[in-house]
Amino acid sequence: MNSAVVTAGIFAAWALLFLAILLILAYRRASLALSSCVLGLLLAAYWVFGAAPHWWKIALCVPFASLLLLNIRPLRVRAMTRPFLRSYRRLLPPMSTTEREALDAGTVWWDGELFTGGPDWNKLMSAKVPTLTPREQAFLDGPCEDLCAMLDDWDVTHVRADLPPEVWNFIKAQGFFGMIVPQRYGGLEFSAFAHSCVLIKIASRSTTASSTIAVPNSLGPAELLLHYGTDEQKNHFLPRLARGEDVPCFALTGPRAGSDAASIPDTGIICKGQWQGSEIVGIKLNFSKRYITLAPIATVVGLAFRLFDPDRLMGDKQDLGITCALIPRDIPGVSIGRRHFPLNVPFQNGPIQGHDVFVPMDAIIGGFKMAGLGWRMLVEQLSVGRCISLPSSATGGAQAAVYASAAYARIRRQFNMPIGRFEGVEQVLARMAARTYTMDAARSVTAGAIDGGEKPSVPSAMLKYHATELGRMIANDAMDVHGGKGICLGPNNYLGRGYQIVPVAITVEGANILTRSLIIFGQGAVRCHPFVLKEMNAARNQDREAGIRDFDRALMGHMGFAISNAARSFVMAMTFARFTKVPKTGTTMRYFQHVNRYSASFAFATDIAMLALGGYLKKKETLSARLGDVLSMMYLASMVLKHHENQGREEADLPLVEWACRSLLYQAQEQLHLFLRNFPNRPLAAFMRMVIFPRGMTYFPPSDRLGRSIVDLIMSPTASRERMSQHIYKTQVSNNPLGMLQEALILSTMAEPLEKRIRVEGVKTGRVTALDLPGQISQAEGLGILSEAEAVMLRDYDAKVSHLINVDDFAPEELAAGSGSASCGANAGPVR
Ligand SMILES: Cc1cc2nc3c(=O)[nH]c(=O)nc-3n(C[C@H](O)[C@H](O)[C@H](O)COP(=O)(O)OP(=O)(O)OC[C@H]3O[C@@H](n4cnc5c(N)ncnc54)[C@H](O)[C@@H]3O)c2cc1C
Repeated sequence: MNSAVVTAGIFAAWALLFLAILLILAYRRASLALSSCVLGLLLAAYWVFGAAPHWWKIALCVPFASLLLLNIRPLRVRAMTRPFLRSYRRLLPPMSTTEREALDAGTVWWDGELFTGGPDWNKLMSAKVPTLTPREQAFLDGPCEDLCAMLDDWDVTHVRADLPPEVWNFIKAQGFFGMIVPQRYGGLEFSAFAHSCVLIKIASRSTTASSTIAVPNSLGPAELLLHYGTDEQKNHFLPRLARGEDVPCFALTGPRAGSDAASIPDTGIICKGQWQGSEIVGIKLNFSKRYITLAPIATVVGLAFRLFDPDRLMGDKQDLGITCALIPRDIPGVSIGRRHFPLNVPFQNGPIQGHDVFVPMDAIIGGFKMAGLGWRMLVEQLSVGRCISLPSSATGGAQAAVYASAAYARIRRQFNMPIGRFEGVEQVLARMAARTYTMDAARSVTAGAIDGGEKPSVPSAMLKYHATELGRMIANDAMDVHGGKGICLGPNNYLGRGYQIVPVAITVEGANILTRSLIIFGQGAVRCHPFVLKEMNAARNQDREAGIRDFDRALMGHMGFAISNAARSFVMAMTFARFTKVPKTGTTMRYFQHVNRYSASFAFATDIAMLALGGYLKKKETLSARLGDVLSMMYLASMVLKHHENQGREEADLPLVEWACRSLLYQAQEQLHLFLRNFPNRPLAAFMRMVIFPRGMTYFPPSDRLGRSIVDLIMSPTASRERMSQHIYKTQVSNNPLGMLQEALILSTMAEPLEKRIRVEGVKTGRVTALDLPGQISQAEGLGILSEAEAVMLRDYDAKVSHLINVDDFAPEELAAGSGSASCGANAGPVR
């Protein structure tokens, strides 16, 4: 063999050895000292045994010498950390107090693990499994079930545009408004999980009722009083709120301050005024709020405004900042009672204005000591409510939609087949079910984390965004599967109002575009990243020396972290993440491994993006949104895996779990790809692509076959179908379409063989000539193709199906606004 070829071969072998050792050290996150030792030994071996020219060996020593110098702290600080810190301080975007408070709020949970590039699955797997106490279960089976039975959504949404008085009374008397209030104040004191299950059940029946009940149990007066109220305020208000004697609302949004809620122009001026016959120092309020849920009927108004003390009556500060107060409704200057009309779902919602409203200082929640701390109070408490209200209501709506659509797709026949058996419909049903499973997993596992003491702020934004977006997709799909049946409103339409309320859920508690573009990654990158916040805090430290010391430590950690994630991302992409350590869970194990892979790629991309774009990344909303999507997809996939474990690793549910994980991880890949496609620094984008996708994009979405297995599960009365809709209102009573659809679905399993017999033995042989089923049943019975009992059963089934597929019609004048008529055409009314 030619000696040049041999030399080249030996050179390549050494190069590979160096690369392999570097990758192993980085992959295993070896310390700087250990890495220096190992590389030093390798270099020494190369000096002795390597056949390279001298100049090449010396050249190799240069990077190694730099590595060695990094080990000497004083030298490193002077040569690297100090100059870097100077530039970092210049680049660090200024942070307002409100931003700082938002960042500090809540806790970091599984979201933090996903930022590490190597999540510790034990943390998630050992998290509390959410369960209901007997008291909570009894409430779901008792008052909650009764409330659902009382609700007639057509009457609520079309006839009276409100809940009927008896429903209002029931809600208040049974404590629905006090689910978060401790029992010592007369509340129900439910766990986050129970609270979530209650909302699921009610949302599956009436979105007007679920919105009404969600609000007092979310961020608002009760929550703020619980955490910040004075004893006097707690003792007075909490029992009244729990019993529904006071109805609260919380007014933050105004005509000029929507998404940018901290910019509220509403003012409170500290001044002297008359209160109950005497002159006191109080607050004169001027405000204009809109979209406030429960405002038209509220008795106490939680109000956010900016507090000023121009005459310095309470101290030196003139602009005290955003403050939250609780003011009574019936007070001079307050205009309240008018209603907005949110897309035909008439929960109480309206504007409130106040002109020179004078209230005493103790109207401030927590008293004067909490003046100016309103924004902090709001962001600190936002995470829990945001994890529960909208995600649970959206999940309830989605579960109802899937439960109904799958049954409808079985009983509705076209071209002589249940429509759900056509591949096109099958595909839609499969994604509806898997997305619903994802939503249920995310809301229940996260509720379990809250019950374990977490206040997960970044997950709350992810949950809010994705649960409502998935809800939107499912609502659209349910409409498509139902065709005209979903479109014609009336007492028999069980989809229309759920479809209409979707944009409300998308808009409230942080509008979705903003939540995706600014909050999820923006907050996550600072809050959850293991080093970024430490670096920022060190850079802002007034004690310069301590700042440099902390910054140096964080910077070194950060550098090692980034290098390690690059290696992990590359190795896992090359090996399809086969060798990464995850819990041994059988079929689902590969999904855990893929989450590991994307976690490393995501962490690596995040670091490069922050390094290259700095504060500009905040303005590049589309990039930030895509990284946020990757984080969310990993989070949701983890929730699905944990949920499956929580439910006892049910083998039958695997198609749902697999479809959900495949689709989520595929989306993670696609969003990473789009992030790279749009990254402004092209050479860096190319480098990242090499590290993240060295084999190209190899992950595929779920197969059609997997979709078919899901449809088999949900179009039959299976345990999986029941499990995934566990908490919705599906009692089989005549005025509950979900219950009636389930009954028909069960009957269809007996009716279908009989229908087939008529077709095969009657229609195909020409003995049965009738065109419609009732006629065919009679002829088949006469010909002995069906027994009398079978004919009775099939007639009953057909009558039920006819009722379920029928739609409402109205006399022309009945639809005019104010006609007040609920009566409608022949199709209305219970079938039994
Ligand atoms: C039915 C209903 C009930 C409500 N209940 C209450 C309540 O009880 N109490 C209360 O205080 N408020 C309530 N709200 C207000 C709600 O929180 C706001 O509507 C929401 O914050 C958005 O404000 P906006 O509607 O003014 O939209 P805008 O702020 O005008 O936003 C319009 C669009 O621009 C997007 N956007 C804005 N800024 C950015 C950005 N920087 N980057 C990317 N996109 C951006 C938003 O995502 C949105 O899509 C309610 C609203 C509705 C409709």
